[in-house]
Amino acid sequence: VPVNFLQKISELALISVLTASEGLTNVSLLIHTGPDGEKAWPKKYPFCGGVFQSPIDFHKAILQYDSNLLPLEFIGYDVPSTDQFTLINNGHSVKMYLSPAMSIRNLPFEYTASQLHLHWGNQNKSEGSEHTVGGKHFAAELHIVHYNSEKYPDITAAMDKADGLAVLAVLLEVGCRIFIFCLFRVYQKVLVPGFNVQELLPDRLDEYYRYEGSLTTPPCYPSVLWTVFRHPVKISQEQLLALETAMYCTERDDPEPLEMVDNFRNVQDFHERLVFISFLVLTLVPVFPLFLGFVVSVVIACVLGVLIILAVAFWLLKKKR
Ligand SMILES: [Zn+2]
Repeated sequence: VPVNFLQKISELALISVLTASEGLTNVSLLIHTGPDGEKAWPKKYPFCGGVFQSPIDFHKAILQYDSNLLPLEFIGYDVPSTDQFTLINNGHSVKMYLSPAMSIRNLPFEYTASQLHLHWGNQNKSEGSEHTVGGKHFAAELHIVHYNSEKYPDITAAMDKADGLAVLAVLLEVGCRIFIFCLFRVYQKVLVPGFNVQELLPDRLDEYYRYEGSLTTPPCYPSVLWTVFRHPVKISQEQLLALETAMYCTERDDPEPLEMVDNFRNVQDFHERLVFISFLVLTLVPVFPLFLGFVVSVVIACVLGVLIILAVAFWLLKKKR
């Protein structure tokens, strides 16, 4: 278990007391909590009701193995501790700005890192991942957002272009328990010393789901090349709880504080699209012929064995006479 990751997640979660930073509009405040939540998005943001939307459910019928899917290469992900990341609460998630020296390769273009953020559920229902696997939610999901720096000068220019963004997604599940102490002051922004961002990713970087989708918050531009790692990363129950209970959508002095929970979008229809996977799935189908083969060979071996014993016995008997 990458210990550093746990530490970073708790730092992210424990900024907790972080209330929404200045300049928030009611729009971002109401993204997940409005009267109809996400159902109301398309009215104001037409792309949200359009095609190529994310997140989606990964299920057998839409998965297709692609042997050309190489593991990604991470450039500059190991950020020295002398550098600092800025962490803010933007009213619907906790966001950490990344260094422009960080990029990923082995995609159709070179993509430069912009920010990372998290999606989670609530303390009664820890099912806050956006992508699901076979209909199953994970506890939370980490997104590392990159833009196509070969074609566009910055993320703003890239975010509404079809080949503009690439997001890495890590599914988080509750695993080992570690003790964290929760003492935090109220900040608007927090500076986090640099660390190796690759430690936030699972060990198996070669196994992932790849598909073309969208931003999961308004304006939902269909501009994202998604890479969702197959293997989840474990976080502790305490860290998850910190994430689920300690963040607020409202500003510090708001008389009606609004907890930041369930900031994930529901899975979207996946009209006649495929998800490409870099790994082979073992199904029950090839197991049966294998098992049958095993049974047949055991039977043949037994018959041969009996025949040999009989032959030897016969030969001995014959010799005795
Ligand atoms: Zn996200």
